Amino acid sequence: MEKPNVCINCYNMLDKIAGRLSLSKSEIDILTIPKRSFTFSFPVIMDDGSTRIFTGYRIQFNDARGPTKGGIRFHPEVDLEEIKTLAFLMTLKCAVSGLPFGGAKGGIVVDPKKISKGELERVSREYIRELYRFIGPNADIPAPDVNTNPQIMAWMLDEYEKIMGMHAPGVITGKPLELGGSFVRDISTSLGGFFVLKEATRDSKVKPSNTKIAVQGFGNAGMNIAKILHGKGYKIIAVSDSKSGIHHENGLDVKKVIEHKEKNSSLSGFKGAKEISNEDLLELECNVLIPAALENQITKNNANKIKAEIILEVANAPITPEADLILEKKKIRVIPDILANAGGVVVSYFEWVQNSMNYYWTTKEVTKKLEDYIVDSTREVQKTCKEFKCTMRDAAYILAVNKVLSAERLRGVLK
Ligand code: NAD
Repeated sequence: MEKPNVCINCYNMLDKIAGRLSLSKSEIDILTIPKRSFTFSFPVIMDDGSTRIFTGYRIQFNDARGPTKGGIRFHPEVDLEEIKTLAFLMTLKCAVSGLPFGGAKGGIVVDPKKISKGELERVSREYIRELYRFIGPNADIPAPDVNTNPQIMAWMLDEYEKIMGMHAPGVITGKPLELGGSFVRDISTSLGGFFVLKEATRDSKVKPSNTKIAVQGFGNAGMNIAKILHGKGYKIIAVSDSKSGIHHENGLDVKKVIEHKEKNSSLSGFKGAKEISNEDLLELECNVLIPAALENQITKNNANKIKAEIILEVANAPITPEADLILEKKKIRVIPDILANAGGVVVSYFEWVQNSMNYYWTTKEVTKKLEDYIVDSTREVQKTCKEFKCTMRDAAYILAVNKVLSAERLRGVLK
């Protein structure tokens, strides 16, 4: 095979703007072939004394603009192609937000709900033992993603520091505050999403209390954005997780929903709301739909049934490229993932900066800096939309691709 490592998904996602920007073959290759790909297997002793082999991945997609940056996902269905796509999106996301980072992503094929806490810690530490030579504060900086959290980041940091024999908090972000984490990081993706939505709808006269919102996914990103928007007076009419969904036309009391989910480990049975499926949630009549679960939720099969006016992509790649074209024809405004969920990596960047200078900012300072970054990048995307008469996704891609290619050119990799 001529190009065994090319990311076909990335190629398809880039296709629409490649023509507009008249990208050359070498430029497309640079943007769609990851720089480094790691697949590895490692044994872990389980609580019952047996040995289980786990598979891990890390893709360092492009580092022209700085050390690569991207989360680690624990999921039973994670594979190399998914990680490649997510690492490509991280490259573009860091560029859109003007961060001095390239893009990466990692994962382990595991369902963390099916192993014990001790097993989870051993799996997390082994992942770092496999990768420590290739990561570092100035090389590649992991962070949390689906099913990973500050505790897992703490174990990973500890393993890295033990192997290296020194403190190096900047090797990983999304850490607990006690180990060099940043204020606001826990809700940064969702808070960033709120700032993007507010800026992108600034010209509309619609009040938050008249804005109906449906949120798919009730984990870190989905639960927090529902909570933030509810707190700002928006009407959250539906939420869902992997098991079920709930709907109330007049709005849900999100605080009570969170309490219910914490108590019952499920949304199901929440009093006064109607139970709905995930498919129903996506197709609800609402002003803003927020996919905040996994990729490929809106496809060519259901895109025509979407009734929202705006889709805020808090999840990564929740809409397939085919579905995106259908939504564009239906004049549904999509605020793309590389802008909508950039709050997470922006505050990860702040965490890394604070670790580098060993001086820490307050919640107020971090929130203000996050808002400034997000408002600037949203305005830049909107300006590009007007200039190119294109969708927000195309504009964000145009901006990001130009920034990455410009860095490659300055490095002498491209003429
Ligand atoms: P998480 O593991 O905390 O939560 C995921 C949620 O999605 C859970 O509530 C799960 O039950 C639900 N879910 C899974 N499959 C579903 C389905 N088919 N329908 C409805 N719900 C489903 O993960 P997270 O950190 O909240 O990440 C969610 C998305 O946001 C991912 O796409 C992730 O890449 C993206 N994201 C997260 C961050 C972050 O800082 N956490 C940053 C940027 C992007």
